[in-house]
Amino acid sequence: MTRPEFYDEGALVAVLTTQPLDRLLDYKAPEGGAMLGAFVEVPLGPRKVLGIVWGPGRGDWDIKKVRSVIRVLDAAPMREEMRTFLLRAAEYTLTPMPAMLRLATRAPGLGDPPSMRKIYRRGEGEPERSTDARRRVMETLDEYGDLSFTLKELSEMAGVTSSVVKGLVKQGVVSEEDAPRDVPFRRLDPSLPGKALTDDQAAGAAMLAAAVRSETYGTTLLRGVTGSGKTEVYLEAVAACLAQGRQALVLLPEIALTAEFLKRVQVRFGARPAEWHSGATMTERRRIWRMVGQGGAQLVIGARSALFLPYQNLGLIVVDEEHDTSYKQEDGVLYNARDMAVLRASICGAHVVLASATPSLESWANAEVGKYKRLELTSRFGPAVMPTMGTIDMRAAALPSDRWVSPDLQKAVQARIDAGEQAMLFINRRGYAPITLCRACGHQIACDQCDARMVEHRFLKRLMCHQCGETKPMPNICPSCGAEDRLAPVGPGVERLGEEAATLWPDARIATLSSDMYGSARALKAEIESIAQGGADIVIGTQLVAKGHNFPNLTLVGVIDADLGLQGSDLRAAERTFQLMRQVAGRAGRADKPGTALLQTYQPEHPVIRAILAGDEEGFWRAEAAQREAAGVPPYGRMAGIILSGPDVAAVFDIANRLARADGPLRQVGAQVYGPAPAPIARVRGRHRVRMLVKADKGVALQGALRKWVSQVQIKGDIRLAIDIDPQSFY
Ligand code: ADP
Ligand code: ZN
Repeated sequence: MTRPEFYDEGALVAVLTTQPLDRLLDYKAPEGGAMLGAFVEVPLGPRKVLGIVWGPGRGDWDIKKVRSVIRVLDAAPMREEMRTFLLRAAEYTLTPMPAMLRLATRAPGLGDPPSMRKIYRRGEGEPERSTDARRRVMETLDEYGDLSFTLKELSEMAGVTSSVVKGLVKQGVVSEEDAPRDVPFRRLDPSLPGKALTDDQAAGAAMLAAAVRSETYGTTLLRGVTGSGKTEVYLEAVAACLAQGRQALVLLPEIALTAEFLKRVQVRFGARPAEWHSGATMTERRRIWRMVGQGGAQLVIGARSALFLPYQNLGLIVVDEEHDTSYKQEDGVLYNARDMAVLRASICGAHVVLASATPSLESWANAEVGKYKRLELTSRFGPAVMPTMGTIDMRAAALPSDRWVSPDLQKAVQARIDAGEQAMLFINRRGYAPITLCRACGHQIACDQCDARMVEHRFLKRLMCHQCGETKPMPNICPSCGAEDRLAPVGPGVERLGEEAATLWPDARIATLSSDMYGSARALKAEIESIAQGGADIVIGTQLVAKGHNFPNLTLVGVIDADLGLQGSDLRAAERTFQLMRQVAGRAGRADKPGTALLQTYQPEHPVIRAILAGDEEGFWRAEAAQREAAGVPPYGRMAGIILSGPDVAAVFDIANRLARADGPLRQVGAQVYGPAPAPIARVRGRHRVRMLVKADKGVALQGALRKWVSQVQIKGDIRLAIDIDPQSFY
């Protein structure tokens, strides 16, 4: 066995910092020495910055000028596999290492001394003047024996106010102590019984559990219609992993991380897992980061950045809704958490489960060629069946202008209401109307900073740019011709559809789910949950409601504009439409009532619409795969998007043209560069954007060639270059 590398006091060490420098810096190890991988605080100019001991110092600096590490932080050193992961992820995404390190240390105060808080446990004796409330507190404490609670936990569990607990503290029957805040999470118990699985589910669970127990890397694509029990099945893999004493990670799109989901996990394992999401407080983040690193958290449920936590002993990563586009981070470090999960698992010998009702073509293709194992759940659990699908030909609907619900859909919704069931109208457009047009001069109101129309958000009484988020009050004078009161909304958004529904069904309870109307993602989720419990007759929503929510009484889904996604020139337009329509339809008929999905379309003959209707998934994937293969595009070819941006359009084009001419390193590996061309959205936040696209064959080592290529041209001033490997969006 090799001893972990250790540097004695005064030895030269190379430190990777979170600062944007393109090299490691030499420091002297501090008093007491430092381990390889140790988190340290180092002086940089006048500042103190966070860093990691990355290896021996290079010694190419004047030794007299080399400063000492200030201190080693009280955190588990970064393990070798994590360092390898960051290096390989950086190489793949062409990201500088300091940015990777920032991603891996996204918790505040990592080096601070542990902060304290009050905890409560059983003290001596019995309370005087025992009231009901006091008795409940004592019973709760007795039930949990030696465990301690925060004031909030204890009063919530006993169902009393905190002053009751405080009163018992005064009597000494409850003891109050200071304890470190970053305490381990409650132990999860993988041996608690799960649900009784169907034969199909049990076979799948056994296969995944065996894969986890093998402690070798592998990836399984777990495919099954919504409601088939994928979650039940992968929770068994989590159980197998925990039983082995290894850690597990379940990644979910942020919006699918619901209280309902966490409750299920809690019921299965007897305690709450660590939850890593954008709503977590700084103290929660710090606790999770530290406990994951010390083995005090067995299971993390989180959004994509949970992948960069410092796991000690990771045995399983589940990527639920693996096709979801939110796994791709589109700013800062451009990475795809699904792909990086596979990378991370392959380094530490963990198993990956990619779960989806509608896998991405990438994962489908990897399963086809045997790189991933395949696991299918073919039927819905219990009596629920897949919804019946139908189209409504909008060419025949002859709707008056400013109406979007066809008579057929109207009738179908009415029938559901009459039966005491729920219906959903789906439209993938936020706001009130996508266009605000002046009827006098034809002017369309656009964003000042971006090449995009501004979208009216009537609930907020503002116009909003969906590119940059800029808003302005709704004017009543046309900014172009000055005509008064001639501005009119054109086209439907979710809010406007809500208005139409209110006129069509005046007596129905209508819930329009738009993120504008709820202060936070949490509030919105809470609202969705209350609707699922029967709080509305008609639900109107965008993508938000299509993801992962359970509406047991919902039996009809009407898609207002099924063609919308097909219009883009996007490589994945067909795939996305197919997935989205299948998911939306999957909302209908989850419990014991059969569901129906009706798609309003102007192109009922379109192959994608037909594939959706036929429910012929394999057929759809095969056709789509064949087309992409013929075009040599992902997953059958490689792509990188190059985005140059800057305030001066000529300067941006100048750099782009120089890059395009210097394409030698790309041609050497058989890659071609297309463009430069103004990006589809040619200006965002006042910056002009120019795109290029690099295409290569599948086997090509593209990153090395790209690095060589861009290093030839100096990019100066306020021009920025972003390289997007495996781009998902092309705007
Ligand atoms: P998916 O993840 O494929 O959408 P879920 O695992 O969420 O499916 O299952 C859908 C619903 O069916 C959930 O309410 C779940 O608790 C229930 N369910 C699935 N399998 C079983 C089972 N074997 N026993 C009891 N309930 C089940
Ligand atoms: Zn804008």
